[in-house]
Amino acid sequence: DLKSELSELDKKHFLHPTSSIKMQQESGPAYIFVKGRGIYLEEISGETFIDGMSSLWNVNIGHGREELGRVANEQMNTMAFSSAFSTYSHEPAIRLAKKLSELTPGDLNVCFFTSGGSESNDSAIKMARHYWKLKGKPERKKILSRKLAYHGVSMGATSATGIPEFHEMTSSLAPDFVYAPSPNARSWSEIEDVDLTCIDETIKIIEKEGPETIAAFIMEPIQGAGGMIIPPNGYLKAMREICDKYGILLIADEIITGFGRTGKMFGVEHWDVTPDMMTVAKGITSGYIPLGAVIFSDRIHQELIELSTGTLFHGFTYSGHPTACMVGLKNIEIIENENLVQNTEQRGIELSKGLTKLEEKHWSVGGIRNKGLLGAFELYQDCTSKKRFDPSLGVAKRVVDECLKRKLIVRPITYEGTDTIAIAPPLISTKEEIEQIVSIFSDAVSVVESQLNG
Ligand code: PLP
Repeated sequence: DLKSELSELDKKHFLHPTSSIKMQQESGPAYIFVKGRGIYLEEISGETFIDGMSSLWNVNIGHGREELGRVANEQMNTMAFSSAFSTYSHEPAIRLAKKLSELTPGDLNVCFFTSGGSESNDSAIKMARHYWKLKGKPERKKILSRKLAYHGVSMGATSATGIPEFHEMTSSLAPDFVYAPSPNARSWSEIEDVDLTCIDETIKIIEKEGPETIAAFIMEPIQGAGGMIIPPNGYLKAMREICDKYGILLIADEIITGFGRTGKMFGVEHWDVTPDMMTVAKGITSGYIPLGAVIFSDRIHQELIELSTGTLFHGFTYSGHPTACMVGLKNIEIIENENLVQNTEQRGIELSKGLTKLEEKHWSVGGIRNKGLLGAFELYQDCTSKKRFDPSLGVAKRVVDECLKRKLIVRPITYEGTDTIAIAPPLISTKEEIEQIVSIFSDAVSVVESQLNG
């Protein structure tokens, strides 16, 4: 049949991103998806799954919105592509840049376009260094990031990533990257009972390295792939103040948290902080076409204008791709017209209630947390002492597999020996769909708990 034919071809010819090469060879792809509608993905066998992760935390408006296909089609037929290098321009990129400047907080008003998150972060890192070089301070070149950060897989982004597993690919990281601790709060109480020792540690690292050697501090407002870590209240503000004190640029990586995911348009809005640069991707087009951006403050832009004499030698062929920009504009129009940010805030309240019930009902569930539709819970052998399960038991993966049996796609995160289950359904989810997700969690956890008890 078609699935076995595709599986064989897949094994031979398709090297999957972020995958186990050996397992892929042995078993081939477990799922081949053929269709997406709303929060659902249909597999080739005809089975329908809830896309509980919005695929890669990116399909914010849900699957199957034909308006996006229509604008892409129109733009492709009119002018699929033309350069935005140098003095060439076009309306789609101009309009999207203007729209992003309206949406983003403070004076973040100037956009540089890319095709995804890694490119955005590498661009922000290079621009930070370029900025200091123009200011006559080329020694300000170090990039401070955090443990458990995930910033992507291009060379700069890999080096800024603070998850050791991602460093294994490359025998040497890019030079001049320094790591600070992550707040690593894993429950509501840890988020509220502000343990801010990580801020003191960060200051010590800055002073040890020499503040005059640090170009920028990059952080996800909520750490995503590293463990769905919401910072304690006060953390972001404190980091903004520290950056100001030492003259370090602040880069907010909003690649997951942007475009409504957390119940605000951007994650930093929860803590009323404006970075000097913001990087976005994923939700900017809800994944319908690749696109990313770095949004700069007017202040940085003005200084660049005043100081620069030659060419900015940085641009991707697809920086400001007209078709991608049109899809981005339509996607943002849908987010706004359908009040998806407000919807996400409301669904977030319901998700929070659901997770609270889950925690009450199951002895292994602890550390529940969410902002809007970005949430997680932890599985513990003992919730009171926060004793973890032996990693060889693969508890998080077992829960995820039980969810898959019940047609819910979610993601295990197990760095540093945790058993974390992440959840991030599309922003169009209904109250009933959130309840269904939580009820599947409960059934899945029950099965795994009874295996562990037995
Ligand atoms: N930054 C964050 C916070 C991300 O979650 C990701 C992707 O998951 C990236 C950067 C990298 O984006 P991309 O995979 O589009 O290169």
